[in-house]
Amino acid sequence: MVNFQLDEMQEMLRELAHEFAVDEIRPNAEHWDANSQYPKEAIQAAHEMGLLNLHIPEDYGGPGLGLMEEVLVNEELAWGDPGFATAAYATSLACAPIITGATEEQKQKWLRKVSEDGALASYCVTEPGAGSDLAACKTTAIRDGDEYVINGSKMFITGAGYADFFFVLAKTDPDAGYKGMSGFIVEAGTDGFTLGKKETNMGQRCSDTRAITFDNVRVPVENLIGGSESGGWLNAMNAFDMSRPNIAAHATGLARAAYEHALQYSNERHSFGKPLHKHQAIQFMLVDMKTKTEASRLLTWKSAFEADNGIRNTESAAHAKRFSADTAMEVSTDAVQVFGGYGYSEEYPVARLMRGAKVMQIYEGSSQVQRMIIGREITKDF
Ligand SMILES: Cc1cc2nc3c(=O)[nH]c(=O)nc-3n(C[C@H](O)[C@H](O)[C@H](O)COP(=O)(O)OP(=O)(O)OC[C@H]3O[C@@H](n4cnc5c(N)ncnc54)[C@H](O)[C@@H]3O)c2cc1C
Repeated sequence: MVNFQLDEMQEMLRELAHEFAVDEIRPNAEHWDANSQYPKEAIQAAHEMGLLNLHIPEDYGGPGLGLMEEVLVNEELAWGDPGFATAAYATSLACAPIITGATEEQKQKWLRKVSEDGALASYCVTEPGAGSDLAACKTTAIRDGDEYVINGSKMFITGAGYADFFFVLAKTDPDAGYKGMSGFIVEAGTDGFTLGKKETNMGQRCSDTRAITFDNVRVPVENLIGGSESGGWLNAMNAFDMSRPNIAAHATGLARAAYEHALQYSNERHSFGKPLHKHQAIQFMLVDMKTKTEASRLLTWKSAFEADNGIRNTESAAHAKRFSADTAMEVSTDAVQVFGGYGYSEEYPVARLMRGAKVMQIYEGSSQVQRMIIGREITKDF
């Protein structure tokens, strides 16, 4: 039987996240964005309220909740502000390949740092010359006795300036293509590890994005994820099946916020003697914004449901991420249109939402890459 009714715990969690967005995120979002200020204290507060890293199992100090609970919370956090949601989610993404691929000892060490000490982490995969085509990564990790020596550079790493440790994908066998890739934990401040300057992004400006260079960075062999050089690529890619529904939830929250602002404004603003929403052209725009936002949520919930019930969700996660990200862009652009000239001003929140939506079509696999994944899935039996 299909059931869209949330259980009591899910409702409480969603309500908690919503209240946090109302009280702690929305009042600060404009200031954070205008000043490119990383919301460190608010991230810490969200962690202490139990709103972050819900996927860390109880065995490693986490709440051990499902993807459904995560997407419920993430929609609310992004409804508060998409930049905050991205900044707060970076650690979850970095933990995903540790949860799925690390040894018991590694999980006890690194996941507990997050769940119990509130450590922050970053997922470090993209390079200056390789984003969508990650197999073209050039960063190497070559074994030297009891250590690996990492050389190369990474690009656009969310949260890099504040992370305590990094999940880093590097080639342990540079001649073996993607099969020669392995995952490592690198601690911030290790010799030879250099952070770039904070990027000046179009939107989500409170989120910290930086390049990183690795110049003979030495890490102990114990930091090789899973303890073996094979399977690093697959493990890093599997993390996306968990993260894409969460990005889809962020996009749904952003779209919902943009729609609500537009609906409210369309009631306050009058033209030709009546509220804007009494003009059918505007009303139909609002209708389409709402339909697409609802559809985004349903695709997101479906992919979370599949993951939580042991069903492979690669295709549904790609549908959810692609559709929701494109919807966030369309709905926030339409919200600016409903606001007219005021929408173009940073005095109103819809401009910040529109700027913040664009990156959702780019990171965690662009909308084109999601279509490539779906295309591969639907044609694989031919
Ligand atoms: C704000 C921000 C935060 C980020 N955070 C992280 C992070 O924390 N960790 C991390 O590892 N990375 C991160 N990224 C990197 C992000 O995942 C990449 O930017 C993204 O994967 C696209 O890669 P690229 O920028 O190299 O673009 P490219 O791969 O060069 O693509 C350029 C354009 O071509 C399209 N394209 C490429 N190949 C194809 C194809 N075969 N068919 C059709 N179209 C194609 C793409 O969709 C895109 O529109 C972040 C990026 C940004 C902007």
